[in-house]
Amino acid sequence: MKDIRSVLKDLVAIRSVSPSIRPEFSPDGEADVCAYLSALFKQPGLDCELREVLPGRPNLFAHLDFGKPQTVVLSAHTDTVPAEDWEGDPFDPIERDGTIFGRGSCDTKASLAVFAHSFLEAARRGDCAFNLTFAAVCDEEAGFAGSQAAATHLKADLVIAGEPTHLHILTRHKGVMRFVLGAKGKSCHSATPELGVNAIYPLATAITALQEQAERWSSEERAGLGTRTLSVNMIEGGQAANVIPASASAHVDVRSLPGDTQEALLDELRSHLPSDVEIHAPYLAGPALETPEDLPLVRRLIDASTLPSISANYATDAAVYSAAGLPSVVFGPGDIALAHTDRESVPLAQVETASAILQRFFDLD
Ligand SMILES: [Zn+2]
Repeated sequence: MKDIRSVLKDLVAIRSVSPSIRPEFSPDGEADVCAYLSALFKQPGLDCELREVLPGRPNLFAHLDFGKPQTVVLSAHTDTVPAEDWEGDPFDPIERDGTIFGRGSCDTKASLAVFAHSFLEAARRGDCAFNLTFAAVCDEEAGFAGSQAAATHLKADLVIAGEPTHLHILTRHKGVMRFVLGAKGKSCHSATPELGVNAIYPLATAITALQEQAERWSSEERAGLGTRTLSVNMIEGGQAANVIPASASAHVDVRSLPGDTQEALLDELRSHLPSDVEIHAPYLAGPALETPEDLPLVRRLIDASTLPSISANYATDAAVYSAAGLPSVVFGPGDIALAHTDRESVPLAQVETASAILQRFFDLD
């Protein structure tokens, strides 16, 4: 069996930048990760199932049926964010002082490597406290399409979604929603602005209203997860300095709390906006996560980690599974603060410890 370290390095070396973020990159990266994992599982004779989610972008599944009443799913995503600001080749994994550097190293190829290794180890032993499913899913960084597709057919008493949690079990996190706010006007020569309709003005009014909404939310702390947040992070509008702009738009990012629904949040925002701006249907939406820690499998995993459970601001595949009725938590080696940065890395000691935690979790009582 290949050691986890080699598997992690091999996975980092596969360029799997999300084609949803950078359509100009090879769209095959996620499929290449699946092909690598299929070959890895093939050696001890395990079959994998590939299911295409988006054109050329599959999910991969493998199952170990030990005839147990419960099933645990180990799921991690195959895509990464781009790495334009990286010094050197971000896909050439460098090992320095016991740490592996490279794009995707902690987000989430370390989790993929640990999950694959633990799955293969359970197969080799021929027993585990529950049946296991391994899932490698696409499109986490830009849309959750992989986990949404997986959630429609997976059976699980617990899903462990791999993300860098520093080995803590994450049971609660905020949700995310992103949408475009648009205003339409009528262009004309800027020497006669009264003949046109300037689309930037209503958008500016709307942005100020959203800023006020963000301030109101910032005082509404709930459920120990902090507050909802809202930010306007990109604006676009106009075509030339001497043309009255016919259109203007802004990208809005909302971080929601458990219990929030997309409809209710959008209704609340709409009620504060001028009628001449339009909220377009969200292009990204992931719910918040709130998994009870007294579920026996969750308790067992927290005990195996020997660390206190945590909550987080960022959204993950776990909430997608959870919304589909599959109890889910997040767990994996690495530090989320390094994910998406030009210093992304994962300490090998944490990779080994993550594997030991899963081993304790898997062990028969
Ligand atoms: Zn990420």
